[in-house]
Amino acid sequence: MSNPRPDDTLSRSGDCPAAEALGRQRIVTRDAVLGEGLHIRRALPVRQRRMVGAWCFLDHFGPADLTGGGGLRVGPHPHTGLQTFTWLLEGEILHRDSLGSLQRIAPGQVNLMTAGRGISHSEESPPERGAVLHGTQLWIALPDSHLDCEPAFEHHPQQPRIERDGVIVTLAAGRWLGEQAPARVYTPLVGAELRWPEAAASRLPLEHDFEYGLLPLIGEVAVEGEAAGPGSFIYLGPGRDELALRAGAGAVALLVGGRPFASEVLLWWNFVGRDRRVLARHVRDWNAGDARFGEVRGYDGPRLVAPTPPWPPDA
Ligand code: MN
Repeated sequence: MSNPRPDDTLSRSGDCPAAEALGRQRIVTRDAVLGEGLHIRRALPVRQRRMVGAWCFLDHFGPADLTGGGGLRVGPHPHTGLQTFTWLLEGEILHRDSLGSLQRIAPGQVNLMTAGRGISHSEESPPERGAVLHGTQLWIALPDSHLDCEPAFEHHPQQPRIERDGVIVTLAAGRWLGEQAPARVYTPLVGAELRWPEAAASRLPLEHDFEYGLLPLIGEVAVEGEAAGPGSFIYLGPGRDELALRAGAGAVALLVGGRPFASEVLLWWNFVGRDRRVLARHVRDWNAGDARFGEVRGYDGPRLVAPTPPWPPDA
C-alpha cells in the first residue's frame, strides 16, 4: 500500500537508546486514514520505534465494513529499497504491479513485492469483495547488498502451520520453530500469525539475538504479564530465549522479529533508502514518469503524486 502521511516518516533507525535495548516497550499505535476512509493503526514507524529487525513499516487496517463505500482503492504508486508484505485476516485485496502481476490475496496467503531499484503497484478491493476487510501491511527494509536489486513479486498461497503450547502459529516469513516460510527475504527475520483457539498461557522459544514486536489484532494478549489489545504494540529487545504469552479464546496477534538492522534506514513517503539525495531523486523520477518504475495496467484511477521532501536539494 501507500504511506498516506509522509510528514514524520523521515526516520532514522539509530534513535533507540542503548539502555532500552533489553527492555520491554509499549508503543501506542498512531491513527491514520488510507485512501477513501480505511482506518489504520500504524505501529511502525512511530516516534519511539523505527524498526524491529528489518521490519520498518507496520499498518493494521480494519476490521472495516466496506458495505456501501468504494472499498479499498490505492492507486499506482512506487516503492524502492524495500519489500511490501501483505497479510490478511478477513476479506481480499487485488494487487497489480508494473511487472504485470495481477494477484488476489486472501487470508492465510502472502503477497511479497520486492521493490529494489524501483517498482510500482496498486491495491484495490476486488469487485465482488466481502463486506469486511481486516489485515496488515508491512515493509521489510532491504539490506545494502540488495537495496537496488531487480524488482520481483511472489504470491504464496500456503505457509507452514505449527501448533505449540496452545497457539496455532502460521509462519508467514523467515525461520522459526523448525520451519521455513517460502517468502524470500534477505536478512534474518521472522513474521508469524499467532492464534489461540482456546484461552491459554503459552511459552514460545525466541532467537537470543533477535528483537521482537507483538501486535494484537483481535482480542487481548498479555506479553510477559503486560496486557495489550489492538492499538498497542509491544516491543521486546534482544536477549530473550523465550516469550511468555497469555490470551483468551479467539485472540490473534502478529509477531515480527529480526536481528537489529545493520544500516541506518531513511524513509520518505513510499521510498526506503540510505541517502536523502537519492530519496529526493526517487521523488523527482516518479513524478516525471521515469521508466524505472514501469506502468501499472488495468487500475481504474489516477497514479499517486510523490510529495516533495522538505530538506534542501543538496542535503
Ligand atoms: Mn504500496
